[in-house]
Amino acid sequence: MTLAASRLDDDLDARALSTLNHVFGLPGFRGHQEQIVRHVAGGGDCLVLMPTGGGKSLCYQLPALLRDGCGIVVSPLIALMRDQVAGLLEAGVRAAALNSSLSYAEADAIERQLLAGELDLLYVAPERLLTPRCLSMLARAKLSLFAIDEAHCVSQWGHDFRPEYVGLSAIAEKFPNVPRIALTATADALTRREITERLGLTEAPCFVSSFDRPNIRYTIVDKQNAPAQLKAFIADKHTGHSGVVYCLSRAKVEDTAAALCKAGITALPYHAGLPAGTRAANQDRFINEDGVVIVATIAFGMGIDKPDVRFVAHLDLPKSIEAYYQETGRAGRDGKPSDAWMAYGLSDIVQQRRMIDESTGSEAFKRVSAGKLDALVGLCESTGCRRTRLLGYFGETSTDLQCGNCDNCLNPPKVQDGTVAAQKLLSCAYRTGQRFGAQHLIDVLLGRLTERVGQFGHDKLSVFGIGGELNEKQWRAVIRQLVSLGHLHPDSEAFGALKLTETSRTVLKGETQVMLREQTGGRPPRARSRRGDLVGGGAARDATAGDPELFAALKAWRASVARERGVPAYVVLHDATMDGIAAARPRSLDELRGIAGIGDKKLEHYGAALLAVIDAARR
Ligand code: ADP
Ligand code: ZN
Repeated sequence: MTLAASRLDDDLDARALSTLNHVFGLPGFRGHQEQIVRHVAGGGDCLVLMPTGGGKSLCYQLPALLRDGCGIVVSPLIALMRDQVAGLLEAGVRAAALNSSLSYAEADAIERQLLAGELDLLYVAPERLLTPRCLSMLARAKLSLFAIDEAHCVSQWGHDFRPEYVGLSAIAEKFPNVPRIALTATADALTRREITERLGLTEAPCFVSSFDRPNIRYTIVDKQNAPAQLKAFIADKHTGHSGVVYCLSRAKVEDTAAALCKAGITALPYHAGLPAGTRAANQDRFINEDGVVIVATIAFGMGIDKPDVRFVAHLDLPKSIEAYYQETGRAGRDGKPSDAWMAYGLSDIVQQRRMIDESTGSEAFKRVSAGKLDALVGLCESTGCRRTRLLGYFGETSTDLQCGNCDNCLNPPKVQDGTVAAQKLLSCAYRTGQRFGAQHLIDVLLGRLTERVGQFGHDKLSVFGIGGELNEKQWRAVIRQLVSLGHLHPDSEAFGALKLTETSRTVLKGETQVMLREQTGGRPPRARSRRGDLVGGGAARDATAGDPELFAALKAWRASVARERGVPAYVVLHDATMDGIAAARPRSLDELRGIAGIGDKKLEHYGAALLAVIDAARR
């Protein structure tokens, strides 16, 4: 590198740091941000893989401010654009969004601003960007970069495929000299390849961050009475917190939301069957108010940027680890302790298998889907660290096999030799003709003379009543684990009848030992959770480093400002910033400006009011 070039770099670095401090109010970069910002600000293309909450936005917002011209951000959802633009305007950045929610006159005004060089960042919906009118306008404007957010939407194999994203290959062709940065939180290799091919990034560097979300605690419980279990989980750890509850069907969404409301929890339903107005109103309340729980089908969530979601609960099994990781990843974007909690049972596996078998996809598609489901069931039945297993699935191997912040690390399950129980169950399935589901097999093993048992003469079989050493719940666990180990197969074409597999014989012959997770039943002892520290659980999570009274006063102030200005509370100040203030109790504007999240504009707008709140709390 020549001396002149290195001076140029020094200058760029200094400007980057100053903008980071003054505009975004942040003291330093995180992870790969610095490298990415330097690369893009210097005119390079790249692909950025970073988990949710990793800080992707800064990777294009900052270079857009450092370069001449306006940065164009392609973003799939209007709600997401709206929040991002509100946040940028708060920080004094000249930002706008072009999407279908605008009137002709509003759109026209934004276009004129762009051409006059009066915008730093412009968010555009993909289908709009690809119109001849928009392309020709962009060709006349001075552009600093293109950022393609949620870039995995170009992947046909992915779960968020959006046909309009495929057309984005036009950007590379029409604007070869404008740097392109594609960003996604979806990690798998196939998706990555599709992104680079379709967006013309095959030669560009790829910045890959660890996908670990250390602040999320993963817990997977045995499903018994899911609504009651969910209510207990919320009452125990998340009273008054924002959360998302995922269910598979619309009916279950409605029922669950009603059950939570009855228990005094502010819960709202969200699914594609609701009128668009209700859906939007419920989503808005979830985003803008504190402590709303949204109960939803997977139709909800894409583009929800709410940073303070404290838990994501699954009442039904998702269809893959990718989907599970993406959905649970919506918890704790702000880095504060959060929970990913799931209740799952055998019926979930049967239901998902049926959905795959009944889908209209090709055989290859069904095979891939079944494999993905198996991997997820494996995670659910795993007795080892959930995080290690999740990251391993995404190709990240770690030397530390105990994360200390998942259910299995906090309460290691006991494992025991279950070969005899497995043999009893498999023989029972075999002797009853491989035509029955879990309940009937358990009835036979426990020697219950039900109508069905009598009708088929199963009380005459040698397996009748040989399973008294385990109770019903334990037998269900044995069945689930056998399914997850591949020794038993629920046949969805035969209403979930449990059939033997190729490996069942080796178990029956005693050639394969089956280790089973011991069913302890009841709740795990609470004393084990490390309360108070980063991974702490329970109500202690609410405690901030600072004074709770001050925190409450700050929250009330924030809520009133947000209402007045018509923006979500977190657009005014993030929880992490409020924590910082409550802990430091700054006495002057100078002290206040040292807190992460307080940039020049926030200091100017809110500084005096914040000091007044702090002062009032001091008395
Ligand atoms: P992503 O788009 O990757 O999900 P965001 O860009 O929304 O993540 O950032 C997530 C959170 O991290 C935001 O609250 C943001 O203010 C914060 N953040 C981003 N970069 C930094 C940084 N360098 N230092 C501190 N906080 C940061
Ligand atoms: Zn763990």
